[in-house]
Amino acid sequence: MAVTKISYFPRVSILVLVFFLSGAFISAQEEGDPLILQEMSWTDVRDYLKTNDMVIIPLGSTEQHGPHLPLGTDFYEALGMCKLISARTGVVIAPVLLAGYSVYHSGFAGTLSLKPETMEQVLFETSEILMKYGFRRIMFFNYHGGNRIAESNVIHRINHATEAIAVSIGIGASFQGGGERVEGVEYDQHAGIHETSIMLYLKPELIKMERAEKPKLHFTPKMLELLTLSRENPDLMAVLGALQGVPSETKKGGASHELSNNGIWSTGDPKRATREFGERVVQRMVSQAVKFIEAWKKARK
Ligand SMILES: [Zn+2]
Repeated sequence: MAVTKISYFPRVSILVLVFFLSGAFISAQEEGDPLILQEMSWTDVRDYLKTNDMVIIPLGSTEQHGPHLPLGTDFYEALGMCKLISARTGVVIAPVLLAGYSVYHSGFAGTLSLKPETMEQVLFETSEILMKYGFRRIMFFNYHGGNRIAESNVIHRINHATEAIAVSIGIGASFQGGGERVEGVEYDQHAGIHETSIMLYLKPELIKMERAEKPKLHFTPKMLELLTLSRENPDLMAVLGALQGVPSETKKGGASHELSNNGIWSTGDPKRATREFGERVVQRMVSQAVKFIEAWKKARK
């Protein structure tokens, strides 16, 4: 019925409607709605490219995040922060992958994992096709440690083999610094207070807070020694980092299910998480990325 009614619309009314709709799209951008490739039409993308050649690709994971956070935590964190960045800069975001490199979490059900070389290839091919339309400045916003190798490899490959420029603006970016630490908690690396707080801010409806529980951690003697020594010299956390978050076949005792009974890697209690802390962490990262993008916009294309 509706279709029949539209066919009686005078042509001029349709033109007026199109004018107002496109106006609404533009004003929505000004009001700060994110630009998400999948929600745009091809004509929107064509028009966007007349004034901007930047694109942000969020990188996260689908992996266990304890009994209280969803498997998609890293994906929602990366996407959520990218949406805020897009709303403030007007740069398009193009989500490509839901999964990342997470094989060391596969002792817990539901975790997905892609090999770093698979990720690199998918991201490179995606970047290549984006370049075909005119995108030349590609930013990867990664929020999962396991993806760092794929991210740095694809950035290197884009920069050395194509006309485009690729950089990192998430946790891999030097301007993001170390981030804010949870007071009184020396170790809070995965699904703990930090990430629960971020999710309380970005995606609270997916948290089952009643299941949040401080984990029982099983560090090997070598890891315990490094944790103690790192109190005097925090740089040693880098060595501890090399022992954890690695597949069980390496026999370092660092796969997720070897480290933690419930998948959380923290000496803190995730029940201490607050939305306010999450908001601070998110807004700090978003602001740093926005500052970088605005500075880069001023440079020659
Ligand atoms: Zn995470």
